[in-house]
Amino acid sequence: MREAAVVVIGGGQAGLSAAYHLKRHGVDFVVLDAAPAPGGAWLDRWESLRIATVNGIFDLPGFPKPPLDPAEPSRVAVPRYFADFERAAGLPILRPVRVTAVRPAPDGTLVVESGHGAWSTRAIINATGTWTNPVRPRYPGQETFAGLQLHTHDYVSAEQFAGLRVAVVGGGISAIQQLEEISRVATTSWYTRREPVFRDGVFDGTGIIAKVIADVEAGRPTGSVVSYTDLAWTPYALAAKERGALERRPMFTAIEPHGVREADGSFTAVDAILWATGFKAALAHLGPLHLRNEHGGIRMIGTRVAADPRVHLIGFGPSQSTVGANRAGRQAVTTLLREVLTHV
Ligand code: FAD
Repeated sequence: MREAAVVVIGGGQAGLSAAYHLKRHGVDFVVLDAAPAPGGAWLDRWESLRIATVNGIFDLPGFPKPPLDPAEPSRVAVPRYFADFERAAGLPILRPVRVTAVRPAPDGTLVVESGHGAWSTRAIINATGTWTNPVRPRYPGQETFAGLQLHTHDYVSAEQFAGLRVAVVGGGISAIQQLEEISRVATTSWYTRREPVFRDGVFDGTGIIAKVIADVEAGRPTGSVVSYTDLAWTPYALAAKERGALERRPMFTAIEPHGVREADGSFTAVDAILWATGFKAALAHLGPLHLRNEHGGIRMIGTRVAADPRVHLIGFGPSQSTVGANRAGRQAVTTLLREVLTHV
């Protein structure tokens, strides 16, 4: 079995930030990334998500972004930037290596298992994001639906829905972006469980992050991103409103072969359903560590799992953004040096 003082799992923004700081401190480490190439989840973003329509990409540590063309798909521009960073920083990243399990060993170390062998390590920094764990709700009759069903994870562009009657489900940023695009070429109906809240005025980033921190420090499972942030009147939200596409309907109760049963019992014919229902932290491989409490949450202190100083989760909870991921990478390394790697 190979050995490394620290194994970083995942090579997106969070994993790269951690790797940069580990290298700077001379720690023996390896990054295992399931993706075939640099870019993290940006490699898989839908084609029409342009640099102009992302919320903003924070710089990787010590490596300012070059000017990016607003019209370029983010799935091309961001991976190119990450690849340049990796080359410049000379980081030890193995790809594609998917970690299948992390187990505690009797001697107090951890064993990281993958399809390409196992590593023995003193600590892990988990940076596996959310993209590989889409939330796919189930509704009665769903298996009888004769039309097309897609999740945001598999959405490419609105052209897939041209001319169809499309139910778009979900109340987050991706749902609004995709609803706006699809409503240009198709007839849409928009379904959410809760009444969407559009926020007027400025975005209180600090207040939002404080709420997420309070949840993870108490060991509560975190909610969806939009449950903390509410929705902003972005240009695409305004465009959707103008087109009449933001008429929200309460969530349908069942799916039938050719449509959906509305909350009021009426029937709406649809040819396609887009599940823009978000993502959750991809942590299945950490199952053998039994990190979750009886409520399904993981109690955290900063980036570290409260019950296990060997395990850090970054790009998780309050650090689920490019700026948060960056800072969390540095914080995880600083904490590990203080608590676990005291004689590096
Ligand atoms: P990721 O980029 O998801 O990287 C995780 C990496 O881990 C991937 O390479 C994956 O292949 C790998 N991996 C997963 N499982 C395993 C495994 N078992 N073994 C090994 N490797 C594994 N944030 C912003 O700040 N600005 C934005 O504009 C913005 N837009 C967004 C748009 C969408 C549609 C979504 C879903 C999120 C967006 N976010 C945005 C949030 C932001 O993308 C993330 O918080 C940040 O980029 C995530 O970085 P990460 O490193 O945590 O995860």
